[in-house]
Amino acid sequence: MMGVGRGATMDLVSREVFAPGATIFREGEPGEQAYVIESGAVEITALKDGKSVLLSTLRSGDLLGEMALIDRKPRTATARAVERTELVIIRRDYFEERLEQADPLLNLLLRVVLERFRHTRRSWLRGDDPNVPQSGPPADTYSEARTLAISDLKLQLDLENALERGELVLHFQPIVELGDKRTVGYEALLRWQHPQRGLVPPAEFIGFAEETGVIVPIGLWAMQAAHGALRRFRDAAGRAGRGQMPLFVSVNLSARQLTDPAGLDRLCAALAGDEVEAHSVTLEITESLLMREPEQAARSLERLRRLGVGLAIDDFGTGYSSLSYLHRFPLDTLKIDRSFIAAMLQDAGTMKIVRAICGLSHELGLGIVAEGVETPAQLERLRELGCHRAQGYLFARPRPEEEICAALGR
Ligand code: C2E
Ligand code: CA
Ligand code: CA
Repeated sequence: MMGVGRGATMDLVSREVFAPGATIFREGEPGEQAYVIESGAVEITALKDGKSVLLSTLRSGDLLGEMALIDRKPRTATARAVERTELVIIRRDYFEERLEQADPLLNLLLRVVLERFRHTRRSWLRGDDPNVPQSGPPADTYSEARTLAISDLKLQLDLENALERGELVLHFQPIVELGDKRTVGYEALLRWQHPQRGLVPPAEFIGFAEETGVIVPIGLWAMQAAHGALRRFRDAAGRAGRGQMPLFVSVNLSARQLTDPAGLDRLCAALAGDEVEAHSVTLEITESLLMREPEQAARSLERLRRLGVGLAIDDFGTGYSSLSYLHRFPLDTLKIDRSFIAAMLQDAGTMKIVRAICGLSHELGLGIVAEGVETPAQLERLRELGCHRAQGYLFARPRPEEEICAALGR
C-alpha cells in the first residue's frame, strides 16, 4: 500500500480492568463508550418499581453499553463486574466516524431498531400492560438519519431513469503534454443534471450506479458520447485553421463493465464499429478494480486492447495491490493519483514515491499522467522527474463540451 495521509486510530480503542463488584457504568449516566468483555463477567441491572432487577449476565466476547455508541441518551441500565473483568473500550468518536461513512440506510435501520428497543425496555420497566398497544417512539428521534436515507433512496430511483431522460452530461478536462504544453486529449467526467438538485458530482452517484448495475449502460453511453464530442473538438480546431489535431478522449471504466459479459460485448461492438475510432479512446481503470478479479480483468483488457484502445491505470498508488500485476495487463499509461501530487512538495517520502513511479513507468515503457496538478512548482518538479503529461486545475477545470469547442475555435 502506498496511500498517503491515513490517520492513526489506535488510541481510540483501549483496555480497562475492573475489580469484582466494581461499577462499570450506572443507569442515568451519560454514555460515552461501549465495551467488549475480554475476560470475566458483568451483571446488567435496571431499576423496576424502585428495585434493582437483573437483566442479564454477560461474559467473554459479549458487547455492553453499545447503545451509547449510536445515540447520546443516558444509560438505561447499570453494569457491574461480577469477578475480575477485563474490557476493551470502544469510544464513541471512533464508532461515529465509521457510522458516518456507512450506508445511510444501514445508519437509519440501526437507529430505528435501537429506539424501538429502548422504547420497549422503558415500557417494560414502567410495568405497562403488554396487551395494551403502546405508541411507537417519536419519529423525530432519528429524523436526520431518515432524511438522509430517504434522499439516498430517491436519488437511486431517479438515477435509473437519468440516462433515458438525457440528464447525464460529460465535462472534459484537458490532458497536457509537458514538453510544449499542448493539449493532447481530454478526460471525460460524468455529471448529472438533476432537475431538482442541479449539477450532481459523480462521487454522489457512481457508487449507486455500480451497485445497481446501471453503470453498464451509463459507461457505454459515456464512451460513445465522449467520442462524439471528440469529433466536434477536432472539427472546431479544423475550422480555426489549426489543422487536424489527433487528440484522444480518456473515459473512466467501472468494474461492472469488465465483468458483465453482455456489457463487455456491447462495449467491444461499439469500439469495433464505425461510430467510435478505438485508437482515439483510452479507458481508465483503477487498480482495485483490476485486483478484484485479476484473471477475468486480464482477459477483458486483452480483448479491448486488440480493438486498439489505450488502457490507463487510474489513481495509481492508492490501491492495495502488488506491483506484479503491472506487466500482466496490457497497459500503456499510469495516472499518478492526485494525493501524491498534492503532498510531494511538502513531504520528502511522497516525493520519493512519485520519483519511483516515474522510474517504474519508464522501465516498463508506460506513459505517465500526473493528476491534480495545481501549481507551477508541482509542474516544474514533475518535468524534472521525467513525467511527460499532466492534468489539473493549473491548466483547466473540467468544462462542458461547448466551452471546449469555443476555446478551440478561437
Ligand atoms: P478520477 O477519474 O480520478 O477523475 C479526476 C477527478 O479529479 C475529477 O473529479 C476532476 O474534476 C478532479 N480534478 C482534476 N484536476 C484536479 C485538481 O487540480 N485538483 C483537484 N482537487 N481535483 C482535480 P470528478 O469529476 O468529481 O470525478 C470524480 C470521480 O468520479 C472520477 O475520479 C472517477 O473515478 C469517477 N467518474 C467520473 N466520470 C465517470 C464515468 O464516466 N464513469 C465512471 N465509472 N466513473 C466516473
Ligand atoms: Ca479517471
Ligand atoms: Ca484519477
